[in-house]
Amino acid sequence: MSVQTVTGAVALSDIGRTLMHEHLFIAFAGAEYDSGFHFDRAAFVAEAVKRLTELRVVHGVRTFVDPCPIELGRDAGLMKEIAEKSEMNVVCTTGFYFEAMGLPIYWRARTAEEIAELYIREIEKGIGTTGVRAGAIKVATGEPVITSLEMKFLEAASMAQKATGVPIITHTQDGVGAPDQIAAFGANGVAPHKCLIGHCCGNADPAYHKRVVDSGVYIGFDRIGLHRFMPDETRADNLVKLVRGGHRKQIMMSQDRHCGWLGKFARQVSPAEQAKIDAMRAEGTWPPPYSYLFTDFVPMLRERGLTDAEIFSILDENPRRFFAGEAL
Ligand SMILES: [Zn+2]
Repeated sequence: MSVQTVTGAVALSDIGRTLMHEHLFIAFAGAEYDSGFHFDRAAFVAEAVKRLTELRVVHGVRTFVDPCPIELGRDAGLMKEIAEKSEMNVVCTTGFYFEAMGLPIYWRARTAEEIAELYIREIEKGIGTTGVRAGAIKVATGEPVITSLEMKFLEAASMAQKATGVPIITHTQDGVGAPDQIAAFGANGVAPHKCLIGHCCGNADPAYHKRVVDSGVYIGFDRIGLHRFMPDETRADNLVKLVRGGHRKQIMMSQDRHCGWLGKFARQVSPAEQAKIDAMRAEGTWPPPYSYLFTDFVPMLRERGLTDAEIFSILDENPRRFFAGEAL
């Protein structure tokens, strides 16, 4: 059994330590028209290769999953170049973002079957003319509820999942929506262990997490370090609760970080926040590094009593089991 990476199929026995939800490059639609910014592709590739190489050599990460939505600047050729130069397995996905922040007009007009056709083609044949095949499917929904338009894309993803067998990785917004996504995947005939419900660590309530894992899906604690959404102390407390509750095999740890961003953010940033970002950029610590999970969050889990065997089995074994489609 294997997983499709941007440089070809890799045996599941070789995917090793895996970060299940990170990004290389993000570009919101329209940023390409902002002529005030110049994107230096070569400099970006060099920086990404440096960061992925550090992850591989220092922290033992072998596989990096980048579930970049199609319309957020997903660039399969760019991912392939970075994967080759850093010797990191990089997995990309097919699938769009959610209504409030994405979903191109052309694809809004398509039927679920037409959208599924695109997803299946990207998984089985490749993305555009790159020859790069998607290794998973991305689904995203907003808050407070899944819109009817988002539901069509979720249905398309479900069709593509059942046709190809590759798993689904989701985005939930503001720590809500996981139970609705789970119900919708169930109604569309997708097996729960084929779904990683993302960003559940954005909800502080352990009862929410319990509801998610009790349904048999994988749960994403995949915004580690994003203090804007939730303090890591809360993430660590809740992750330990899940392990102690017998759900270690269902947890995915990742950070939803990136190392390249086109133009400004897709929201207004306060002058204070911008000053902080500028200062970090000047000292070379912006965007914040992928190594944070290992340098800062793993020690927090140790402080709370988890053993290294428990912590690293989450990173070393759960992703392999997810891609293998083993029932939990
Ligand atoms: Zn993401």
